[in-house]
Amino acid sequence: MKRLAVLGHPVAHSRSPAMQNAALAELGLDDWNYEAIDVAPDEFEDRVREMAAGEFVGANVTVPHKGAALSVADELSEVAREVGAANTLHFEEGRIQAYNTDAKGLLSLLPGPVEGKRALVLGAGGAARAVVWALVRSGASVDVWNRTALRSQHLCEDLGGAPVGEPTQGDYDLIAHTTAVGLSGEDPFEELPLEAEGFRPEQLVVDLVYSDRPTALLEAARERGAETIDGLAILVAQGAASLRVWTGQDPPLEAMRRAVRGGEGPR
Ligand code: NAP
Repeated sequence: MKRLAVLGHPVAHSRSPAMQNAALAELGLDDWNYEAIDVAPDEFEDRVREMAAGEFVGANVTVPHKGAALSVADELSEVAREVGAANTLHFEEGRIQAYNTDAKGLLSLLPGPVEGKRALVLGAGGAARAVVWALVRSGASVDVWNRTALRSQHLCEDLGGAPVGEPTQGDYDLIAHTTAVGLSGEDPFEELPLEAEGFRPEQLVVDLVYSDRPTALLEAARERGAETIDGLAILVAQGAASLRVWTGQDPPLEAMRRAVRGGEGPR
């Protein structure tokens, strides 16, 4: 048996097992299996080393382990090193390689080049780092707003972009929401420097928060004619890039999309 897993704390809510098992079945990889494993932060390193020495081929890593995934790795991809976080581990002959597929996932979904475009990123956590890296590397001019201003300053010192205290929503071609607001039903227009009426048709609005129904943020953006990318699309894109790392095969995107959106398997 070749085993894969998502490691998080908590992790029971993850849709990655349903998505990745659907992909493995579609590829005919019947001796592979993907599971969710809840790992407490103080057990993370030991657990990963144990997995690398056993029958695991790799793992996805989610909150709160994306930083620890870098320190446990023997080798880092260029993206993981520059972003400062890893969401994918690959175990080869006992060695641990770390990748960041969040950044690539986002880039694969953008409808066109962002060079010279103005982008606003909301948030300064792990997801924001991948998004800022991807946009700066692609030539966008990136402003970063965060509830805790010091964190957005540090992020911009590391990755480029400029911290912003009071962004003007209408100025941006692309707005990417990467905070946890909306996960537990919070009103984004209460917590973020955005107004529901403030979107406009030429904008692209990305929300990393995923849920079965469009988030309040994306609903408002669509009502104003903006183009949108939702968190489930990003989940599929980063998962597809991880699957390619582990199996070397082209990911079956349609089966993965069906599994995250259509209710196949446990949520
Ligand atoms: P994280 O490192 O814990 O960062 C959390 C961010 O949310 C910080 O910027 C934090 O601001 C902000 N925040 C939390 N509560 C807030 C509030 N009430 N008002 C304003 N800001 C608030 O988490 P992460 O890994 O970056 O993940 C963030 C989100 O992205 C989560 O919803 C996660 O599910 C989602 N995500 C989705 C995908 C996908 O594939 N779709 C991939 C990765 C992440 P402070 O610094 O002020 O605390």
